[in-house]
Amino acid sequence: MEQQIRCIGCGAIIQSEDETKPGYAPKSVLEKEEVICQRCFRLKHYNEVQDVELTDDDFLKILHSIGQSEALVVKIVDIFDFNGSWLPGLHRFVANNPILLVGNKADLLPKSVKYPKLIHWMAQMANDLGLKPVDICLVSAVKGIGIAKAMEAIEKHRLGKNVYVVGCTNVGKSTFINRIIQETTGKGNVITTSYFPGTTLDIIEIPLDDGAALYDTPGIINHHQMAHFVDKKDLKIITPKREIHPKVYQLNEQQTLFFGGLARLDYIKGGRRSFVCYFANELPIHRTKLEKADALYAKQFGELLSPPSKHYIDQFPPLVAHTFTIKERKTDIVFSGLGWVTCNEPGAQVVAYAPKGVDILIRKSLI
Ligand code: GDP
Repeated sequence: MEQQIRCIGCGAIIQSEDETKPGYAPKSVLEKEEVICQRCFRLKHYNEVQDVELTDDDFLKILHSIGQSEALVVKIVDIFDFNGSWLPGLHRFVANNPILLVGNKADLLPKSVKYPKLIHWMAQMANDLGLKPVDICLVSAVKGIGIAKAMEAIEKHRLGKNVYVVGCTNVGKSTFINRIIQETTGKGNVITTSYFPGTTLDIIEIPLDDGAALYDTPGIINHHQMAHFVDKKDLKIITPKREIHPKVYQLNEQQTLFFGGLARLDYIKGGRRSFVCYFANELPIHRTKLEKADALYAKQFGELLSPPSKHYIDQFPPLVAHTFTIKERKTDIVFSGLGWVTCNEPGAQVVAYAPKGVDILIRKSLI
């Protein structure tokens, strides 16, 4: 059997097959006496972290090891895909360590929404999901908004201890850490990576100035995200890049909205009312009569009703219906990873459709 080579930075087993997995290094460097993986290489030479993906089992191992040390855990969620990027059960594994909750991608929400209100909402959602964070921050890692405050919160709550940054893939964890590195290191002040003692968990270490360290953990993949059901081109359409402009539809009973061909909302009963749609601005929304909806979908899926684009519809899972009665005012019907529809008044009966495997849930309105 071939001998396993480990990265001298993070301890990951070196492999040359998959760039998105821990321990990737191009074949050309395998001959060297000391091999460093691409992720550690980037940190060492460019002061930049790169995200890699991890299996669920390995992620549990990492959480377990965090639980055994004293540290501050920084949990990053994507505010646009709050529930889909949540990492359930994190607090059970990290034991008594404090958790700082960071909502990223705040730039995507309408500017009219005030941060204190969003933070209050995050606190309520966290509480409902069983997490009591020591603090909550809202940032835009891409725009650099809220980063200074988040860094202050990290300093305040870590009390000289190490910091672990955790999150699903795509929440913007790397962008966030790279921002922090940018703000804390001067030019030429190159970070070194070093083996995380005692384990081989593919965690990379970013030294803080008091001898403690910030650890970048690989991102866990959320298998229920819409992102796994569309191709790269379509993913670009459904991933919002700019501030979302909500679209308001006044619907009569027995009307249907299609969100591309990816999701659908049937308004069954409850009188004429408005539905506010929060999706990427580029995602087309079509309104039709409920009685015509099935035929339209059969005929126009991948055409008028796209994404998904035509060449991808064979691989697309069938839409599954979820029936809801909206009981509270200001309720969001969330299509995990795609967006949500806000229903302002109680009493509406709806049927929401998403591809098999993608969650649909009801929550208190974010906005
Ligand atoms: P990671 O997988 O969690 O490390 O996520 P990345 O840092 O690689 O970011 C994933 C995607 O989200 C990229 O396309 C980023 O450009 C984007 N992204 C990261 N931070 C933000 C943000 O603050 N706002 C917006 N709109 N996009 C972001």
